Amino acid sequence: EVGVLAVVGRPNVGKSTLVNRILGRRVAVVEDTPGVTRDRVSYDAEWAGTDFKLVDTGGWEADVEGIESAIASQAQIAVQLSDAVIFLVDGQVGITATDERMIKVLRESGKPIILAVNKIDDNTAEYLTAEFWKMGMGEPFPISAMHGRGVGDLLDKAVDTL
Ligand code: GDP
Ligand code: MG
Repeated sequence: EVGVLAVVGRPNVGKSTLVNRILGRRVAVVEDTPGVTRDRVSYDAEWAGTDFKLVDTGGWEADVEGIESAIASQAQIAVQLSDAVIFLVDGQVGITATDERMIKVLRESGKPIILAVNKIDDNTAEYLTAEFWKMGMGEPFPISAMHGRGVGDLLDKAVDTL
């Protein structure tokens, strides 16, 4: 049995972009409109000799009216079905109330949560990462899903927990 790693986070933080980056091909749908991903999708992935299942949880964003409760249950389902979670936030936006709700649900699960701060596209944006220490999830990993920056270090950490 291979481990299951889920990418969880608010709409538009870059979950599908990260999944595509990890897979090395474009399969998850990336859209500028939040909530556009239709299905929960699981892909076979590999990093540094470790096989795992990678889940893009964006599919649960669609079709739901109450976004707040939908997001909390998305996080709940995601932790239930996975062995570890990459919790993705948007470094250009900062910490939101929704991030805080989701992280509460995730940490209650007791499963390994790795905090990744996306959209840190270059060195000049690096300082945006510091704020996320406040989430109390340990070291925030600055990444750029779009350019691949920091994704290797993130995966080293993530597969280590599987
Ligand atoms: P999702 O809703 O969480 O799956 O987010 P998407 O992967 O669909 O991305 C939402 C938007 O953020 C798209 O316009 C992406 O191109 C953009 N995006 C994703 N990753 C990055 C990144 O590392 N840097 C920047 N600048 N934009 C990104
Ligand atoms: Mg998506």
